[in-house]
Amino acid sequence: MNLRATLATLALTATVVLGLTACAATEAAPGLRASSDSDPSPVTAELSIEDGRLPDGDPVSPFDVDLPAIARLDPALLAATQAAATEAKSDGVEMVVTSGWRSARFQQSLVDDAVQKYGSSEEAARWVKSPEESSHVSGKAVDIGYTDAASWMMQHGPDYGLCQTYTNEMWHFELATEPGGTCPEQQTDAAG
Ligand SMILES: [Zn+2]
Repeated sequence: MNLRATLATLALTATVVLGLTACAATEAAPGLRASSDSDPSPVTAELSIEDGRLPDGDPVSPFDVDLPAIARLDPALLAATQAAATEAKSDGVEMVVTSGWRSARFQQSLVDDAVQKYGSSEEAARWVKSPEESSHVSGKAVDIGYTDAASWMMQHGPDYGLCQTYTNEMWHFELATEPGGTCPEQQTDAAG
């Protein structure tokens, strides 16, 4: 494969991977997960459930603590998310987790893919945080689906201290206030 074809393949792969799994990409629709990894980048292909990837197939709930993506969340964030999910269910809203804790190398693969997609590390940094900065790597962030559940969380999450952190990521929540408190002003994007 020549260089041009290789780059085209990498760009396509990055687009697919980012569109489905990176919470920081504005075009990533909430509630979607990678359903087909037919052409993953080499690093992405090595990532496993132990890195915080979610298994294909059944939706993941905040109670699936057998998965590292759920089990390695900050205990207070996990408890708050579980309590919110239980309340949402009583309102008839199913809450799923589309991304939780991620290993540093999982996050780095998202950064690498973003660099391929956006053409420079500076531009990529607007969309995906480094492993050192990502609140997913520290277990302090959870991405919620589906859209109705994310909307429910925007309304009721503060009752549990859960706040939508970025204006361009309606699915990304962090423990950012006291239960029943007021959420801090949202940041515009991941680099904010
Ligand atoms: Zn997120």
